[in-house]
Parts: sequence; C-alpha cells; structure tokens
Amino acid sequence: MTTPYGPGLEPGRFFLPGPTEIHDDVLAAQNNAVIGHRGGGIQKLMECLQAGLQNVFRTERPVFIATASATGLMEAGIRNGVRERLLCLVNGAFSKRFADIAAGCEKEFVVHEVPWGQAVDPEDVRRLLSEGGFDAVTVVHSETSTATLNDIPAIASVVREFDDVLFIVDSVTGIGGAEFHTDAWGVDFVVTGSQKALALPPGLSFAVASERMMERARTLPGRGFYFDLVRFEAQLEKLQTPTTPAVTLFYSTAEQLGRIHRETMEARWARHRALSDRTVQWVEETAAELRPGMRVFAAAGHRSPTVTCIGLPESGDGPKVVAGMRERGFVLGGGYGKLKPDAFRIGHMGDHDLAALDLVLEHLTEVLR
Ligand SMILES: *Cc1c(COP(=O)(O)O)cnc(C)c1O
Repeated sequence: MTTPYGPGLEPGRFFLPGPTEIHDDVLAAQNNAVIGHRGGGIQKLMECLQAGLQNVFRTERPVFIATASATGLMEAGIRNGVRERLLCLVNGAFSKRFADIAAGCEKEFVVHEVPWGQAVDPEDVRRLLSEGGFDAVTVVHSETSTATLNDIPAIASVVREFDDVLFIVDSVTGIGGAEFHTDAWGVDFVVTGSQKALALPPGLSFAVASERMMERARTLPGRGFYFDLVRFEAQLEKLQTPTTPAVTLFYSTAEQLGRIHRETMEARWARHRALSDRTVQWVEETAAELRPGMRVFAAAGHRSPTVTCIGLPESGDGPKVVAGMRERGFVLGGGYGKLKPDAFRIGHMGDHDLAALDLVLEHLTEVLR
C-alpha cells in the first residue's frame, strides 16, 4: 500500500508494537458511505460490533467503544472506577501511565514498582492491599515497553480477596492476541486499543466494566463528560454512542471482527504464542552462534505473546539494528525510553503469521552479522 506521505511497505514488513499492519479488506471497509449515528443503521452496526467484541473480550457485558486512542478509556477507568486512592502496579512505561492519569485526575495513588522486565508478584499485591486504604488497583497485562506479561488471573484472584477494591487492567497489547477472559477472571475494567493486536486502524478504544464498577461509577463525582461511562452505558442500551462515532472505523472493525470470528480466538491466541516462541528460540540460537549477550529482555515465563523486546550487550546497537532493518524494508520497534540504546522490539501481533516472522528473523540475522 502506498501513502501520500512516503512509500508504503509491502505486506509482512511492518512489525511495530503498534500501530500494526492492517489487512486490505479491513482497510477497504472504510470506503463506505457515512451513516448518521442516531438511525437504525448504526444500531444494526453496533449490534454486530457488540457480538464480535464480546467474543474477543470473553464477556457477556456490553463493550464500550470510544472514538479515542486507548489512553482515553484508560482515563475513563480511573475517573469512573477510583473513589479516592489506588495502587498502581508498575513494571514499565505504560503501567506508569495509570499513575500519571491518576495524578491528572487528582486521585491519590501509591506506586509499587518492580524492575523493568519482571512481572508483578501477586504476593506483593496481597501484602500491599492488606495494609488497607485502597479502593482500586491498576496493572498492565502486556507491558509493551518491556514485552512482559503480567499474570492477570493470579493478581485478579488476590484483589478479589479484598472487599470493595476494583481491578483495572490495560490490555492494549493483550486483547486480541494474548488469552484473556474478562468475566471468568473477575476483572472490573479492561481496556484495549484498535491499533494493536486487533490489527485495526488507530482511533478507537474498547473497554468492559463490571457491574460492580458501574455501580460505583454512578456514585462518583468527577467522572467528567466525554469519558463518563454512565452515559456510555445508557447510550449502549440503545445501541448508540454518546457522541459522534468514527463510523468508518466501525466499518473496519465489523470486517475485522468477522475475520477474527472465523479464525477463532483460540487459534488467534495459539498463533501469537507460536510467534513469540519462534522469536525467543531465534534469540537464543543467535546469541549462541553470533551475538553473545543478546537476550530476551522479559523474564522467562513472563513473556508477552504479542511483542518481544531484545536486549543487546553494546549500548548504541539498538538503533543500529532498527536502521539496518529499515534499509531492508522492514519496520521494527526501537527500545522504549531508557531501553532505546541497547534494545529493539519486534511487534509480532495482529494478523502476522510464522512465514512473515521467519523472513524478518532471516534479515535480522544478516543485519546482526
Ligand atoms: C499503545 C499502548 C497504550 C497507549 O495507547 P494509545 O492508543 O496510544 O492511547 C497504552 N498501554 C499499552 C500497554 C500500550 O501498548
């Protein structure tokens, strides 16, 4: 695909950890006439989106759709779910964002930070919540900055031991790629964005709130207006949105949800796990044969299926690898923030398959040589 702003890439070459490559049919679905957002047409479209999204989120709850990037509904989670004081579990840049949002929304918060590349220990969560004074906990499922996967069901079951504490999860690079069961795990709020593992154009975010969360939301002041979930809920009952939706993106979403339904979520989770396993295997082999000291940044057992962060022994090599791949027509992610000099990331999420990944790894081997 070409763009008016520079050369586009052939399919199978865009491996950023978001935004991700979009299938032609999904992109083309936007080329349909815009419809009004109060008629029967939008209700039919919303009904179709709800069924597809409930399948993706594994929920029977309504799925909120906001015309905003994922951070918008992250803020909704804080405004609608936190009464006074929250515990922010931090193991990278995106989990830190919840604390920044809490500060912006004038909520009190405590940060529990573990070193980048490690997952949060559920035992620590139990110890901290036992001290009392928290009414919500935030965490990131797949921490995109370090490619680390937190154990959401284990943390959820710890949070559930405490009365009146809500569990708020960012699964922006999880949902649609990493296994997630909103209802069965007892998550109170989970948010994702369109442009990550769902392989949609940027511009939409999706979230589910538990009944407990909505009960609390109705009592909270300071919910704001654009991200007031009580208004979202009332409109969704009528299969509508509170404000003008990006309806052409809704068309793309309907198309992609159909593709996801045909693949099945189980196959999608397995495909992402296979992409991650292949990448980890390549890192280990390449470290042994070519680049001693090269390693998968995230701790074993806590690696995200949708993205891999690869650490290099020499500072400055991260940007060199990304530039070398760019010359060969591939786009990879750089190391995030403080990891920029000595790491790079492969976003193997969305609709990529093993054959496409193998081509990336072949070229990477050449670049590293
Ligand atoms: C990309 C990302 C976000 C931010 O999403 P936006 O759509 O840019 O607002 C938040 N959390 C995680 C884990 C992400 O990967």
